[in-house]
Amino acid sequence: MACNLQPIEGRGRHAGYRTIRATRLLGLGGGVLSRPARQVRRHDAVFAAGLAVLLCLLAAAIIGGSDAGDHRAVSVPLTTVAAGAAGVDADGALRHPGGRLQQSAARLRFELPPLRPEDQSWTVWIPRAPVSTLWLQGRGWRSPQSGFFSAGDGEEGALPGGYLVPVPRDWQGSVELDLYIEGAIATVLQPRVLRRDAAMRVERRAAAIAAAVYAALFTLSLLSLALYAAARDRTFLSLSTCTILALLMLAGINGHLYGMPGLRLLAGWQAQGLWTLSFLFLASWIKLVQHYVGGHESGTATARSMNIAVLVLVAAAGLSLLDLRLFDPVLQPLVALGWAAVGLGNLALLVGAGRRRLAMAVPLGIVVLATLLLALLQHLADFGVVPALAATRYGFQCALVVLMIMFAVGLVGRISEYRDQRDYDRLARADTERRMQREAARTDLVNSLQAKLRQLAPGDIEWTAFRLLFDHLLPLLPVESMVAVAQGFYGRELLVTHPHARKDELWLELDHRLLTLRRQAANGIALQQPVTAPGKVAIEAMIPLQVRAPGWGAVLLRRRGADGFTSDEMALATEFARLAQMQIEQAIAAVNLRRSAELDALTGSLNRRSIDQWLARSFIEAERDGQPLSVLFVDLDRFKSVNDRFGHACGDHCLRAAAVALRGALGEGDLFGRYGGEEFIAILPGRGGAAARQVGEALRAAVERLAVEWEGQALRLTVSVGVATRRDRERTPAATIDRADKALYAAKRSGRNCVHVAPAVFS
Ligand code: GH3
Ligand code: MG
Ligand code: MG
Repeated sequence: MACNLQPIEGRGRHAGYRTIRATRLLGLGGGVLSRPARQVRRHDAVFAAGLAVLLCLLAAAIIGGSDAGDHRAVSVPLTTVAAGAAGVDADGALRHPGGRLQQSAARLRFELPPLRPEDQSWTVWIPRAPVSTLWLQGRGWRSPQSGFFSAGDGEEGALPGGYLVPVPRDWQGSVELDLYIEGAIATVLQPRVLRRDAAMRVERRAAAIAAAVYAALFTLSLLSLALYAAARDRTFLSLSTCTILALLMLAGINGHLYGMPGLRLLAGWQAQGLWTLSFLFLASWIKLVQHYVGGHESGTATARSMNIAVLVLVAAAGLSLLDLRLFDPVLQPLVALGWAAVGLGNLALLVGAGRRRLAMAVPLGIVVLATLLLALLQHLADFGVVPALAATRYGFQCALVVLMIMFAVGLVGRISEYRDQRDYDRLARADTERRMQREAARTDLVNSLQAKLRQLAPGDIEWTAFRLLFDHLLPLLPVESMVAVAQGFYGRELLVTHPHARKDELWLELDHRLLTLRRQAANGIALQQPVTAPGKVAIEAMIPLQVRAPGWGAVLLRRRGADGFTSDEMALATEFARLAQMQIEQAIAAVNLRRSAELDALTGSLNRRSIDQWLARSFIEAERDGQPLSVLFVDLDRFKSVNDRFGHACGDHCLRAAAVALRGALGEGDLFGRYGGEEFIAILPGRGGAAARQVGEALRAAVERLAVEWEGQALRLTVSVGVATRRDRERTPAATIDRADKALYAAKRSGRNCVHVAPAVFS
């Protein structure tokens, strides 16, 4: 298969994503909330501009539609003269002092033009002020009674803006009417005499504005409730409550409350209901702002004082409902005081939040301030300090609507923050999970490498290590195939594949690329490259192994498709490969160490120390199992002369050759070692007597057959063998060895190159 190799510089599709996540997790680049906060600030500015435009339009609608200009043609001048407790201002406004059902009266004088059949009839129109009863009387005529706490009865409709009192149609000339007022609330009335259609126009406009205000608040309340259900943020619940209370309070202020469906029954509360709603609204407003700025959670002094304020307001609301005469005179000023205190408190909270750069806090603060100023104007107008204008009344109501809209927008804006936070949390959790999983796999890999490699011989060690590496890597790093390929890896060639069944196919493919791979691996840098073949696209990661030159090695991971490996995955593979190689190195070092401790350096057979250990162990086992055990001493004959004639190096060479020949003459279960100098020992578990002698004979013959090559000569060697078989009494090797030694000595004495079996007892 022809492969086209090109290094990829980038890190695949995950690069951007990973950078963001890493930056965030490390707390770099301004933290988690910096990006949403910046977005919201820009959002704030756009929103504030939009709001300003909206406010201007509203102001234009209210002022442009106000009844100041177009009256002259349709109204007649009116003079008000005080009577009873009422006072009259210079502009003709009637000041009703309030108190429990206090009655006041005033005389209205006006001149009606001569009667023409095509003209509309005249009406006395008084902007709606909170009086319980109001009627006009004069010229033997008395109007029906109207009242602030009942709406929807008259021809003004359900959302009246004023008291509409039509005078008899046939009146003309000078008219004098007495205006009677009863009501507990101090208020100012500004009567006018208007043509009927003009009055109706004013009424319709008032109804439209009120309907718009109520509809906006009602919709917002429902929307907040839905958002609460969706976002599970209690601030939305606060907003919903606050909005619905604002709606009820405004309906109360406009005198529409008890005319609303379902609320007619509550009409008995009259002004008390109004105060109650104002107190409840203020309490809910505090809660809303508290939730919004996040102050409700902390046990700070501000949070505590706000909570106390809420309690006081709720208590005040309860008290107003009790309808006690005692509190009547203070309730109205208390409401005004409550507005000032709560408004300023909320303003302070928002300013604080604005300093902390909380989204929308500053625009909200500005609108709260505007609302407060308009509320103040409204209250001043109620007390007759400033003229009661439509702009004042509706300005306040519209400001309240705008305020609630802004809270809603601010909160909705926050949903994206929650989402970002949630995404971030999810990422962080996934990241932790991944890290833990990787850590566990890593530990598991190291443990299993340590446990499994310990028992193995070199050659098996590398193979097993790479198999374990693949097994541990695969669940974390899904790939199509994995190959470990190396040359001169601890002196060996290496090819381990996953899946194992594709070994031949994978090797065939690699065979063409060995030169390239060798060059790449020699650079020591992990890389990934596309591997293209007809009808197949794959990416291959190459993780180099640390192999001393001229050897080289690499782990190749192949993934189908064009999706590269993330830097995380590359790092993981590199780390695991490094771990595997480290464990291989340790295992091989351990094997070598073990060998050097157990084996004789010259001949590679067991050394004296190991032989002693084996002897002791074999004796214990032989006694336990009741099996025979023989010990054979093998000594080279006249070896000194070999050294003397050919030198020590030749002697060493002969020792090695003899050891190989002797080992070859022994069975699988026999032990063989160098006992010292030119003397070897064989331990034969399970064999005694004749069998042992046979083995001794085989050993002797093996050496005799040997022709050791040295400098072109074939040297001949012989050995003498002393055999001793363990006897029942012999629990330790010493006596048996002693007898074997004596048998050897006997063999030497009887002419060498022979086997001598020790008798039961040497005399
Ligand atoms: P025999 O055992 O037949 O009585 O004669 P021998 O020459 O083998 O006698 P002896 O046991 O006294 O001599 C042992 C000789 O083996 C002495 C020493 O030169 C030689 N020898 C012992 N260890 C080594 C070794 O590691 N290398 C070499 N080259 N020679 C050794
Ligand atoms: Mg000897
Ligand atoms: Mg000797």
